[in-house]
Amino acid sequence: MNSKKRIIITISILILLLVLGFAIWWYLYEEKIEISLKKDLQVPYKSTVTNLSFIDYIKNGTIITKEKNIDTTKLGKKKITISFKNKYGRKEKKSFEITVIDITPPEIEYQEILTTVEGNEIDLLKDVTAIDDVDQEIEILVEGTYDFQKADTYPLSYVAKDQSGNEMRKEFTLIVEKKPAVQSKSNNQKPDSTFTTSKGFSGYTKNGVTYIDGILIANKTYSLPSNYGNGLTQDTINAFDEMKKGARNAGLNIEIISGFRSYDKQNTIYNNYVAKDGKVAADRYSARPGHSEHQTGMAVDINSLYTSFENTNEGKWLSANSYQYGFILRYPKDGEDITGYMYEPWHFRYVGKDLATKLYNNGAWITLEEYFGITSQYE
Ligand SMILES: [Zn+2]
Repeated sequence: MNSKKRIIITISILILLLVLGFAIWWYLYEEKIEISLKKDLQVPYKSTVTNLSFIDYIKNGTIITKEKNIDTTKLGKKKITISFKNKYGRKEKKSFEITVIDITPPEIEYQEILTTVEGNEIDLLKDVTAIDDVDQEIEILVEGTYDFQKADTYPLSYVAKDQSGNEMRKEFTLIVEKKPAVQSKSNNQKPDSTFTTSKGFSGYTKNGVTYIDGILIANKTYSLPSNYGNGLTQDTINAFDEMKKGARNAGLNIEIISGFRSYDKQNTIYNNYVAKDGKVAADRYSARPGHSEHQTGMAVDINSLYTSFENTNEGKWLSANSYQYGFILRYPKDGEDITGYMYEPWHFRYVGKDLATKLYNNGAWITLEEYFGITSQYE
């Protein structure tokens, strides 16, 4: 082998090594970067998300793009581009589209109960508004059937939908009341009269207010005019204060939780109960306006509105001692057929000590209706 040949071989080997080296480097440099995106490329309106939060995983590479929040205050598609490189420095880019979507339904502000009278149409949408985070104008529809010409309680719904199809639904009740009789203002006020009850007591009605043997009567038969009453009577307040002292001496505490209630207040309470439980059920425990004993200013609800009150020390004490202060347990147990109301161990009526003692009847309470010989029934 001569030197010329040796040089050629050496150069050839060098070139071969160079080519091989370059091939290896090229192979590594070109190493594929594997990047995978998350499945869900939808983001809620006004939510906080970053450009990198959509990447599920990356293999054989690192991300170059800086993490930053995406503007999600506009609905629709958005293009995101992310750059990354492999460990040999080769850069790549990946672009994809995300969608900002509205997933929040509108809020509805509304009244749960609307009341009107037969034949008097009211705008069910008058005081209703829908507020949406995206859309300015939201249409509200009323769902359900109703008839302004027919007295009834109608369960209805407000439905508001935004332009992305998110729906909000709120139930409300439309009460169409019976058209009051001609004497509506005075709620079937009884005409002036004098009469004798089946038990021989003399009574009279004057200006819609009925007294029997000097005792003001308010029950389902006898009503009060809508303008009657303006608070608990002084006699009732004084008697209750005495009774409170008596209870305190026995180590007990009694408080009035509901005293005088006006006609209008009772109207609201009664209609709410009707909307909730229906008229038949409501009539068992709530008086129609004008018929509530609370409008007399001589009735008080004490401590609780639960039947379990009868088992408390206060409940027992009142049942056994209220008569000494002039109060009667007005709606005793098993008296519903007579008084028209379910047992109310918390409801006491001031009638004065003499009558209260008679009605106490050594613990076997007699109702006002039985004692006087009168009814308690709506006409
Ligand atoms: Zn009461």
